[in-house]
Amino acid sequence: MPRRAIYPGSFDPLTNGHLSIIHRALRLVDELVVAVVGNPKKAPLFPVDERKALIRGAIEASAPELASRVEIDHFEGLLVDYRAKKGIPTILRGLRAVSDFEYEFQMANMNRKLDAEFDTIFMMTGEDYYFISSQLVREVAALGGDVRGLVPPNVFAALAARFPLLLRHK
Ligand code: ADP
Repeated sequence: MPRRAIYPGSFDPLTNGHLSIIHRALRLVDELVVAVVGNPKKAPLFPVDERKALIRGAIEASAPELASRVEIDHFEGLLVDYRAKKGIPTILRGLRAVSDFEYEFQMANMNRKLDAEFDTIFMMTGEDYYFISSQLVREVAALGGDVRGLVPPNVFAALAARFPLLLRHK
């Protein structure tokens, strides 16, 4: 049986922090489903299809040998329902700081309450990435800040298409 896990998130957009977690997770599991949440609390910057395409493109550009082991999917509704449909018990989440812990701890326990087979594994972010969040990237990019080192090149291009101020960094 291949070892499989689901890495769920908004990925709005994918950052180098997410990409590093994906690369490292593929040392632990055989197949990873990166699952884009289709019903975020706030209106997203990128539609689901574009977020999926950016994830696919970033993996293919950074580690093409891993691409065949990654499925990019999306789901709406409860994660417990999605993981049951996929038949994959293990959820992967990244942990940046103490501030992530509180929320992730609550979510992991709520999910296990809803579904006793549900388990979450956490990977600590690398020290180069702990300060990167999609939200901060969106905010800085909207104001024309140089986010090139924070996101993969294809994500930077997609941000620059929305925020022309970014083109001055090219
Ligand atoms: P959500 O909106 O579900 O929190 P995100 O797209 O923000 O989704 O993040 C998805 C997962 O990736 C979460 O587990 C989050 O903690 C993790 N993550 C986000 N940014 C980083 C980062 N810079 N380094 C490591 N993990 C991260």
